[in-house]
Amino acid sequence: MTIQEFDLPARWRTLLLENYSEAIHNLEVTWPDVQSLEVSYRDIESFDPDFALSIIEEPENNTQAANQALGLLLSELGAPRIVAFVRIIELPPDSHRTVRQLRSEDLGSMISVDAIATKIGKVLPRTYEGVFVCAACGHSSHINQPNEQELVEPIECFEIDGGCGRKKNQTKFVQRVEESILIDTQFIELQEPPENLRGGVQPERILCIAEHDIAGQLNPGDRVTANGMLFVRSQRKSGKDTPIFDIFMRIHSIQRENIPLEEIQISEEEEREIKELARRDDIHDLLTKSIAPSIFGMPRQKESLMLQLFGGVASKAKDGTRLRGDIHILLMGDPGVAKSQLLSYMSQISPRGRFTSGMSASAAGLTAAAVQDSAADGRWTLEAGALALADLGLAAIDEFDKMNENDRSSMHEAMEQQRISVSKAGINATLSTRCAILAAANPKAGRFQSVSEVPFTQQINLKPALISRFDVIWLMTDQPAAEHDKLIAEHIMSNRAESTPEILIEQGSEVDPSKAAKYEGVDTSQGIVNRDLIRKYVAYAKRSIHPRLTDEAREALREFYVETRRKGGEYHDSISISARAIEGLYRLAQASARVRLSNVASIEDAERSIRLTRFWRHELMGENFDETTLQSGKKATTRNRERTLLEIVRRIFAETGETVNLADVLTEAGRLEINRDTAEDIIEALCRDGRLMRPGGYDTLQPV
Ligand code: ADP
Ligand code: MG
Repeated sequence: MTIQEFDLPARWRTLLLENYSEAIHNLEVTWPDVQSLEVSYRDIESFDPDFALSIIEEPENNTQAANQALGLLLSELGAPRIVAFVRIIELPPDSHRTVRQLRSEDLGSMISVDAIATKIGKVLPRTYEGVFVCAACGHSSHINQPNEQELVEPIECFEIDGGCGRKKNQTKFVQRVEESILIDTQFIELQEPPENLRGGVQPERILCIAEHDIAGQLNPGDRVTANGMLFVRSQRKSGKDTPIFDIFMRIHSIQRENIPLEEIQISEEEEREIKELARRDDIHDLLTKSIAPSIFGMPRQKESLMLQLFGGVASKAKDGTRLRGDIHILLMGDPGVAKSQLLSYMSQISPRGRFTSGMSASAAGLTAAAVQDSAADGRWTLEAGALALADLGLAAIDEFDKMNENDRSSMHEAMEQQRISVSKAGINATLSTRCAILAAANPKAGRFQSVSEVPFTQQINLKPALISRFDVIWLMTDQPAAEHDKLIAEHIMSNRAESTPEILIEQGSEVDPSKAAKYEGVDTSQGIVNRDLIRKYVAYAKRSIHPRLTDEAREALREFYVETRRKGGEYHDSISISARAIEGLYRLAQASARVRLSNVASIEDAERSIRLTRFWRHELMGENFDETTLQSGKKATTRNRERTLLEIVRRIFAETGETVNLADVLTEAGRLEINRDTAEDIIEALCRDGRLMRPGGYDTLQPV
């Protein structure tokens, strides 16, 4: 049975009255904060299955009829000026497509895609109902405007409506914008979620149009289920239409994800398996060993990466500030120590893992960029970078030291506040970047020199303030050590020997070892957990476990902190650890508890956190870890000298009240065993930094 078009508004009216009268009342009250009425497809199905089916097959007519019926009901409630849309949500499974599957067969029917918003355009108003005035008689006609493509003018000044009856070539129609009803419209680009892609495939994208209350709702990086209709438009070449079409989607409704990491489905069976694993005493070791098994050694580094997967708990403080839960790790090291390999591995096992390079070719880079989009009529759009796309996951960033200036300036906010506010080309948006960052960086000089000679902050092209945002920093140097080298060589070669030629897998004569049966669950022969199960394990833990530290655990962290600071104080005037480190310790302890699926982080978790922290700090700087070095990029002695020289200038200036002679300062400095050349260099630097000035030429100094 087909449903006659003229029946539609009446049917919609009955449906809405039967199921949604209360919601319509509420809409009338809450408008314009709420501008649409969400109608579940399931309700329509139980109301009338044929009617429900007709909506999928003929969405255009139905949505128009639905909006008309809603408008009428609202005006009967005494609110005739309300422009509200019916938005059908929760479409049946056979309407679901992936972005990749969208083809011309789907034209005209209602479909549903799971996607991530990659670009958004500026929100612009468009005419929804145009009011046109006849230039001859002054009568005005109301014309509904179906879409943003062209403005539909009246074809005549209808006599039935009280007009003069002139055709459009006998008069002129002028739009009265202030009387017309305008709605917002916006271009949005949706991309298939990266986790559905097989390795190396470029994600497919589709350009969409969102209108009314949906316009301006999405930010780049948001994950949604978008329901809507496909339509095509001719591609244009030198001002003419061609027979090739571009496919677009008109978004009818959106549903946001309501379970974190919703795309990862965990069966009851798998949940049982995960819980069983979590009960094992050696679960931390087992998971650590399962991280990049083809990379030899580095047990501590891998342990920290394992904890990074789980992360600490993001929370809100009483004063409203957000406390980051994600653990950021920096791998600094010589070339060829398997940094890139580790990153690539981590991006594969982490839920929503993403691998990118700081030198990324994409315009959006790591954070976001405004680009002019030819598909969106050359309008400016804001494109999400890797961090926004990895929201709630992990971003593995190789060549972190080579990122562009734009990224560099937004990176602090992206790492600590975990959002980026952008305002570019008239588009304002806040992008969430709630992801753990695993970054790799190479030294400027190709190889690391001993950190006792040159502080590492000077060996790397990253500002100390940025480096200090990392909770864990590993220094990985490539030092020849016969025994170790032999083991690595053996390890790499046995890996090769046990691998399967790719071409044989493609031809189908061999099985892909990473998909073979013995890799399911826990591989008992090697004692490792397979990637798929790790991803599910992590997703499960992140969704359901939110550990708090016991008093004892907190006491242990506090003691470590106080003790480390005290020790630092004995060596330098500088402090050896900063308050920021406490947060890092806390997160690591929480992550450790999450691994056990425990909501309580105990003393053992605190101890694991302390042990790791001690270890990376020791690797990085030896015993006397000097965190002020990390913050200012200078060794304590240099800072001391700077301070001494500043003191000298200030004192002489205070005593004499005149500009200070350079020679006097150098003499004074010499007495304090700072040699002339060094002193001159430091003074030069102080003047450059604007902390001293030279009011009367090179020989004169004055405090600022
Ligand atoms: P980086 O990014 O640090 O320059 P890569 O990740 O590109 O290094 O690694 C270089 C090569 O050396 C890779 O093929 C990697 O497998 C190998 N390699 C280096 N160290 C190890 C190790 N400890 N175990 C296994 N392979 C290693
Ligand atoms: Mg590399």
